[in-house]
Amino acid sequence: MVENKIRVALTGNPNVGKTTIFNAITGARQKVGNWPGVTVEKKVGIKEYAGRALEIVDLPGTYSLTAYSADEVVARDYILEEKPDVVVQVLDSTNLERNLYLSTQLIETGTSLVLALNMSDLAEKRGDEINISLLEKLLGVTLIRTTANEDKGINNLLDAVISKSGSGVPLLPEIEYGNKIEEKIHRLETILAEDGALMNRYPSRWLSVKLLEGDENVRSKLSSSNIQPEVEKFLSGLNLEEYEAEMADKRYEFISRLLSQVCTTCAGEVSHSDMIDKVLTNRYLGIPIFLTLMWGMFELTFTFATPFMEIIDIFFGLLAGAVAANIDSSWLASLLGDGIIAGVGSVVLFVPNIFILFFLLALLEDSGYLARAAFIMDRLMYSMGIQGKSFIPMLMGFGCSVPAIMATRTLEDEKDRLITMLVTPFMSCGARMPVYVLLAGTFFGKQAGSVIFGLYVLGIIVAILSARLFRSVIFKGKPSSFIMELPPYHRPSAGNSLKHMWNQGSLYLKRVGTVIAGGVVVIWLLAYFPQGVEYGSAESYIGSLGKLLEPLVAPIGFDWKIAISLIFGFLAKEVVIGSLGTLYGTGADEGMLSSALLADPILTPAVALGIMVFTLLYVPCIGAVAVIKKESGSWKWMLFAAAYSTAVAWIMAFVTVKIGNIIFA
Ligand code: GDP
Ligand code: MG
Repeated sequence: MVENKIRVALTGNPNVGKTTIFNAITGARQKVGNWPGVTVEKKVGIKEYAGRALEIVDLPGTYSLTAYSADEVVARDYILEEKPDVVVQVLDSTNLERNLYLSTQLIETGTSLVLALNMSDLAEKRGDEINISLLEKLLGVTLIRTTANEDKGINNLLDAVISKSGSGVPLLPEIEYGNKIEEKIHRLETILAEDGALMNRYPSRWLSVKLLEGDENVRSKLSSSNIQPEVEKFLSGLNLEEYEAEMADKRYEFISRLLSQVCTTCAGEVSHSDMIDKVLTNRYLGIPIFLTLMWGMFELTFTFATPFMEIIDIFFGLLAGAVAANIDSSWLASLLGDGIIAGVGSVVLFVPNIFILFFLLALLEDSGYLARAAFIMDRLMYSMGIQGKSFIPMLMGFGCSVPAIMATRTLEDEKDRLITMLVTPFMSCGARMPVYVLLAGTFFGKQAGSVIFGLYVLGIIVAILSARLFRSVIFKGKPSSFIMELPPYHRPSAGNSLKHMWNQGSLYLKRVGTVIAGGVVVIWLLAYFPQGVEYGSAESYIGSLGKLLEPLVAPIGFDWKIAISLIFGFLAKEVVIGSLGTLYGTGADEGMLSSALLADPILTPAVALGIMVFTLLYVPCIGAVAVIKKESGSWKWMLFAAAYSTAVAWIMAFVTVKIGNIIFA
């Protein structure tokens, strides 16, 4: 029998190992990574332990419990409104000073607190000696050492949670803010005490502290109380910004006093991370290093993938041969050969690229470097009208725009969020990769890696310039500034990165089996019928449709086959390749696609580059468009995003082809 359940909330700074602990406890599969703010939504898991049911909630990572971001408000509202039985704060033991800042705020909420000193392997390696029992005594909370990625200390943590849950209201130490502030806190507490209902919901000292910090969210919690006018009158005579700064100072003083007692080695040394950061986030070197790393990533992707692609190519060649030799019915042979094998096969061909790219991205993410990339871009982006934090969802867009657009929820300001949402699809997602690999590989040979790198950079540039434009025309004002805290570097774990690669890569495979296969079959039908016409010719249905559309893209130099491929690419951008495969494929040999493309006089290197640029920039796929609608809550923004990006794509492709014609002539 399981007794009544214990509700546990996991909280902590970003990248301290909350999700790893959550997974270790609940066994749930979940993305483990280094994006500050990836845990935007509330995740719940159940664990039965020692005859008790624990309900565990993984809260978003926060550095403090102020109301500066949606994450912080979510985390603190959960703790204060839902009142979990136990709050577990996960700390990075190598960074106690910064992590304890959150602890001081949690202590003020009066919650039952257990601290998990995670990453204790790293602290140990560094030679830190933390006097745990003294720290427990001084803070009045239970401390447990954990090394979450090796599953160490998890059971001790659960034991501590269970014993804490039965121990009643804790008596926690108060942080002293000094006479001047303490007097104000006292006055506020006296006023607040008149509202009994409010006092039942929130600790009065916590409310007073937040009011003195000028916390708007807490102020609005008082809006229905009849003591509100009195509180506002009291606050209006005070310079709250000054109070806020002074209180933060006092908390840090408290922490450094504490640390000097419990750990002599912990404070004030220059860590490994700090030293690496001196170089990687250097004012002048930062951006060149970032670009070089990216370029290296695409070169590697290309080099490693080539042998695998050759194997897949041979396999589909054999399959096509077998179909041609064994199937008599001409329509079935054409469906399998010209449709499925040529179309789906040409997309499957790029699976190795996708997997390798995701693996390398996961390594960069896991090491903590991608957070630096956001930091490096902050200065540049701020001057362009977006805040640096936006670069995190934008970087996620290299994988897939859909989760990236959802990740804009971490941006607190509504304008920042909309701008980021509108420009994120310009970041080249994994689905566009096959289009580049095929066309760049076919038309640019050895330079393919650099061409692909150039497209990714073009995406970033268009995104940033568009943000600039939106900021000065539609969303007037300044981006909100933010202080970015960098997670420490980790040696990336291959296991973690492989898992991440598999999660993302299998999504790609799933798309191949569903949207892409479906799109390809539709294209085949339209290319095969009406009965009797030559397959995929201008007389087929698709030919007529293409001819209808051709004038729209003819100025760029595109013909009807390209127009059709781009139209169907709206389903999923890989379909651009799937349809080229279906339209050009002879069904005999997959490897023929490259040669078939080269043989078409329309397809010059300049036009190929134009197709790549168009594919990069035009309307994002149907999935991304739907998410923009959902996240912005408006048809208007969705239609705007679609129209704007397609217009930009048209113009950029036009310019590319015209310039390309001169250069490659
Ligand atoms: P969250 O942002 O707090 O959810 O942090 P994650 O759970 O995503 O962990 C961030 C990174 O730290 C991941 O790469 C983990 O593999 C790694 N990690 C987690 N716990 C430990 C630990 O105890 N020791 C070490 N060395 N790494 C850890
Ligand atoms: Mg997490």
